[in-house]
Amino acid sequence: MAEKINAVKGMNDIMPPDSARWEWLEDKVRLLMGRYAYRMIRTPVVEPTQLFVRGTGETTDIVEKEMYSFEDRLNGEALTLRPENTPGVVRAAIEHNLTYDGGKRLFYMGPMFRHERPQRGRYRQFYQLGAEVLGFPGPEVDAELMVLADQLLADLGLRNIRVELNSLGVPTERKAHRAALVAYFETHASLLDDDARRRLHTNPLRILDTKNPAMQEVVQGAPQLLSYLGEASLKHLETVQCLLDACGVAWKVNARLVRGLDYYSHTVFEFITDELGAQGTLCGGGRYDGLFEVLGGKPTPAVGWGMGLERVLELVAQQAGAVALPPPDAYAVIPMVQALPVAMKTLQTLRAAGVSVQMHAGAAEGMGSMKSQFKKADASGARYALIFGADELAQGVVTVKSLRDGVGAQVQRPLAEPAAWAAALRA
Ligand code: ATP
Ligand code: MG
Repeated sequence: MAEKINAVKGMNDIMPPDSARWEWLEDKVRLLMGRYAYRMIRTPVVEPTQLFVRGTGETTDIVEKEMYSFEDRLNGEALTLRPENTPGVVRAAIEHNLTYDGGKRLFYMGPMFRHERPQRGRYRQFYQLGAEVLGFPGPEVDAELMVLADQLLADLGLRNIRVELNSLGVPTERKAHRAALVAYFETHASLLDDDARRRLHTNPLRILDTKNPAMQEVVQGAPQLLSYLGEASLKHLETVQCLLDACGVAWKVNARLVRGLDYYSHTVFEFITDELGAQGTLCGGGRYDGLFEVLGGKPTPAVGWGMGLERVLELVAQQAGAVALPPPDAYAVIPMVQALPVAMKTLQTLRAAGVSVQMHAGAAEGMGSMKSQFKKADASGARYALIFGADELAQGVVTVKSLRDGVGAQVQRPLAEPAAWAAALRA
């Protein structure tokens, strides 16, 4: 036997029955996005590396150490598997002048790639749902996006999720805060770890984001950006808070919630659970009014979030339990190969009428015994067996036998007009 080939470490196969949960989730997402009038955008999985160096930020963990980057073999172009999709969406919006006739509300779902240490809730290929609103400067879209995320998590049956909120103000406010922050950390340099010392002059805001327990105290005492916000920034934040209140979304300010890049402004937020261990952030987002310009576009206000779907589904499994795969409505029992043409044609008509049917598949020698076919029909979970036997075909009918309620009850239906009795098979 040839040697086995396994999946790349940190990349998962999603298979039945687990894939049922994914289908269920994706259906809920599409339904809700439609209700908020958000439209789907699909961008390539591979982008020029520079898009992320500029759009995600040179000093972020993602760009410093997590990207899958490679050279195109033919032309040497520097390419990267997308680690996130906001830069891709903004690139596409600039490239196609998407906001020429006004703002756009967009969403996407798809795989992202980051070379991290695989562990629970942290994979090298993972799925993100993202929502991005382009071209609107006001706090009402920040609030709308947060209400949408909250509603989605509620529609999935999830609870005990807290919402943390902060404001990053505008660049001038951040500059004043940054100077105070650097001065503060310099006077406490001996308390900083290597990572923090390295970031002190490249990206000091990110130090506030540290997960190192030994640094929590020094970080607690650091100057807060909130106290550097001017009137307009405070007003933006207060409006978001007031709208969340009006929509019944509970929030808490976390002054240490940051994004270390200059193109962020105003609102930042996270949806967090304590029930998934260390990887408890389900959704993170914020306003990125400066990103269009960083990527060579016209100044365009924008705000969005990204949600980690593996984490969301793990919480679903934990809080709500199994999502069952819907069984087929019917299982087609086909005793002889000769019955296949008529049977398959009938099944086509039934499926077109909305009936879900699993067809029996036989062995190389033939279709197999009735007994073994009925065993498979039972195992499929179908409510009905459709029997395409020789007697039936001779009379131009199919026998519909109940496998669940009133087991054994059977009726005969005309093969000539399956559409007329299809509805009776549906759940
Ligand atoms: P973390 O602090 O957990 O590393 P992050 O700040 O890197 O998260 P974002 O870039 O904001 O995360 O991505 C949005 C969401 O995507 C996260 O809140 C999380 O739910 C999910 N996510 C991020 N990285 C991974 C990963 N490696 N595996 C699974 N989900 C992930
Ligand atoms: Mg990360």
